[in-house]
Amino acid sequence: MHEMSIAQNIVEIVEDALRDEVDPDVERVVVKIGRLVAVVPDSLDFCFTAITQGTPLANSQLVIEEIPFQVRCKGCDKTSQVESFVFRCPECGNVKLETITGHELFVSHIEVH
Ligand SMILES: [Zn+2]
Repeated sequence: MHEMSIAQNIVEIVEDALRDEVDPDVERVVVKIGRLVAVVPDSLDFCFTAITQGTPLANSQLVIEEIPFQVRCKGCDKTSQVESFVFRCPECGNVKLETITGHELFVSHIEVH
């Protein structure tokens, strides 16, 4: 399952970051995920809750911030936000596009109480 492996990755990153903390009380874990990663937020939240049961992260909240899918047109050089998976420049209709954002997946920050 896509979301389960992502949730495991997030937990590993957080545990790694908090290795030197004594008894950390994590309040929020904020992750940024590009649209093209195609994560279902509810599903990721469910997986995160499931695998953090009984760990120091059990009471933490996973906050998912979506990064839009942005492209730069190789025809008119305009940057556009693409809502669907239609790979066409909204400005001039060119199909030669360069992806700028949308593939990201990283832990933005961790809020410790
Ligand atoms: Zn264009």
